[in-house]
Amino acid sequence: MKGIPMTTRDDMNIVRSRLESWEAEARSGQGPVLVQPPMPRLAEDLDIRELISAGGLAGDRLDGFLETYLAASHRIPHPHGMGHQVACPHPSAVLGGYVDVFTNNPMAIYEMGPAAATVEYAVINWMLEKVGWKPRPWPDRPAEGAEGEGCGGGVLTHGGSLAQLTALAAARAHADPEAWENGAYPDLVVVSPPDAHYSVSRALGILGIGQKALVSAPCDDWGRILPRQLGRLLEELKGQGRRIMAVTANAGCTAAGLHDDFHAVADVCERHGVWLHVDGAHGASALLSPRLRHLLDGVERADSLIWDAHKMMRTPGLCAAVLFRDGQHLDGAFRQQASYLFHEKEQVGFDAIAHTVECTKAGLGVKFFFGLAAEGEKGLARYVEGRYALGAEVARLIATRPEYELAVEPEANIVCFRLKGLDDDAHLELRNRVLADGRYYITTTTFAGRRWLRLAIMNPETEVRHVERLLNLLPELAKDDT
Ligand SMILES: *Cc1c(COP(=O)(O)O)cnc(C)c1O
Repeated sequence: MKGIPMTTRDDMNIVRSRLESWEAEARSGQGPVLVQPPMPRLAEDLDIRELISAGGLAGDRLDGFLETYLAASHRIPHPHGMGHQVACPHPSAVLGGYVDVFTNNPMAIYEMGPAAATVEYAVINWMLEKVGWKPRPWPDRPAEGAEGEGCGGGVLTHGGSLAQLTALAAARAHADPEAWENGAYPDLVVVSPPDAHYSVSRALGILGIGQKALVSAPCDDWGRILPRQLGRLLEELKGQGRRIMAVTANAGCTAAGLHDDFHAVADVCERHGVWLHVDGAHGASALLSPRLRHLLDGVERADSLIWDAHKMMRTPGLCAAVLFRDGQHLDGAFRQQASYLFHEKEQVGFDAIAHTVECTKAGLGVKFFFGLAAEGEKGLARYVEGRYALGAEVARLIATRPEYELAVEPEANIVCFRLKGLDDDAHLELRNRVLADGRYYITTTTFAGRRWLRLAIMNPETEVRHVERLLNLLPELAKDDT
């Protein structure tokens, strides 16, 4: 560690020791998953103002700060944490993140981080192959005929929402090549299931297409697209003179983790010449598993796909991919003229900058790669299979308990259920009580017209016995009227 000042080295030991005990305590399942002190008190306890004005966050001061900071942090490694879809980071992925921030090589321009750029390029190619799309050739290879033709494309972004925006920007350029220069025309529409993640409608606002351009896709009671009715809707929209920019489908809808029938939706989109975008932020990781791949059958016929590594790939936030079957479309996302970048320029390497919202862009592929390379793809596949299997097991358990109602047979590691005899508002109140109690962290969602309690089982340490105890606790918390 030559070159690192001594103080830094001591502080590193302080940080490591605090994190180690925080993690060990959380993993043991002791103590709360979550405590939420009032913000002003926390700011005071952390001594934030004083530290900003006078400095001195080192040594004992650092130790004390971390004690308070970690006590008020959501304990991700705790097996009772079943709240939002946040990865429980793989230890090697954390180290990769450390290497990334330590080297601080923003790699959207190759010369600013050749190793990080190469890792990202390779990781994107691996993801393309998992989808069934053609990976890109190495850019520095002398052109070998049509090697780069028909290959996919993609880039890592700071989160799925940016990935979604990037995919829809490319779809807009495809539907309306003039939009980049002139702004979007008011006749564009995007057809999405009503349960689509809010980042879809937000992207339409940002892209200047407007949230009103979002048209609900006809869906069954569980929010899955009805392909035949979708075809009729597309015809109607065309009849009204609207231009259909994209249809979006879910590979793991946010509420309950259900998947659309991609072959059937792709049939309709192909017939109408419409861009198909798949939101696989949560569910695309099932592509790793031969056992679960069927959930994504047909996804290879989509035009674009987003896939969060910071959900089911055990990568710390943020790291998401936006992928394209035809890489040329990504070229069009941020400029009017799409042009092929491969083999065009003299300089070495590959600049991702033409493909991203970000200018300074972290080496996101590094932390992702470290976890992937430590486990190997089969190891990560086993993790995904294990969590999906636990989702199914928990659903079976809930189905045997007469006081509970299961929303739907889960397809992923997201389980929605409710206590019979309790209305929607009472479920919101129950969830508040769970949070105030602190021993468990769960969420609620509306799905199929009602409110449900929702578990997202992300942590590899969570077992069915942990959920069993939660199921015993909930009726008590619901009764407790103090
Ligand atoms: C989480 C999620 C998103 C948004 O991704 P972020 O990485 O949180 O920005 C989009 N779609 C679905 C289905 C998701 O689960």
